[in-house]
Amino acid sequence: MLDGARAAAENVLCSRPDMKRILPPLVCLAVSFFVAPPVSAAQEAAAARPRVLAFFTAGGELDHVLFAQQAIRALTAKSAGDGYTFAATTDWDSLNDATLRDVRVVIWLNDMPHTAAQRQAFERYMAGGGGWLGFHVSGFGNNAWPWFTEFMGGGRFTASNWPSLPARVNVDAGGHPIVKGVPSTFVAPINEWYSWTPSPRNNPDVKVLLTLDASNFPLGVKNTLNGGDIPVAWINSKYRMVYLNYGHGDRIYSTPILPAMIDNSLRFLLDSPR
Ligand code: ZN
Repeated sequence: MLDGARAAAENVLCSRPDMKRILPPLVCLAVSFFVAPPVSAAQEAAAARPRVLAFFTAGGELDHVLFAQQAIRALTAKSAGDGYTFAATTDWDSLNDATLRDVRVVIWLNDMPHTAAQRQAFERYMAGGGGWLGFHVSGFGNNAWPWFTEFMGGGRFTASNWPSLPARVNVDAGGHPIVKGVPSTFVAPINEWYSWTPSPRNNPDVKVLLTLDASNFPLGVKNTLNGGDIPVAWINSKYRMVYLNYGHGDRIYSTPILPAMIDNSLRFLLDSPR
């Protein structure tokens, strides 16, 4: 809000060439500062909202970065209206006790912790009632981190389709707040879809929200998914967590359904008790 007010002031006072001649840049900056609202009011408003912190990796696979960038833009735009503060960082060392203390929901946009210290801090955060929203390759898992496999419901990545393709997806859990407004079956935009062994559905603590429809198979050309039970979105009720397998490429935000589920997932995590 503060930045917006400053930008508005600069637009008013400093965007016109004639005014720029009159007001050199430092004066523009000073003028915009004094017409901005009191810092304390803006800070108090932000402090009252729960914090959401997203982690991503700028140098990762291009299709994963493209989704991360779109998600960051969308969540930034939604944050004030939806009652939370949003920040994103590429510094995975911020996955530590001190930073996470006041964070209500951690988001992983297509990457996962890189060090044992980061992994252990995340475990403590979740054990203390933290919230997690993970996308796509964030759920891939790691042989060095069995806790995370259990956290995900017990399944590990098995295979994926290539190239990335649209797919028909069915809602499993009609009535759950995360699928509010989502049609019972729909064609989702291009994504790389993962299969899991064993299926997380086998875990009684897991509630599957979306599943690939059988009509998709075989899905892919170079690499194919050939059938079986392939959940796409789920929660593990032992934790405040939501996993969404989509997040590959720049088409996820091309239709409203999958973005709506992202917003619903965040709302679900923000509303669930610690
Ligand atoms: Zn991918």
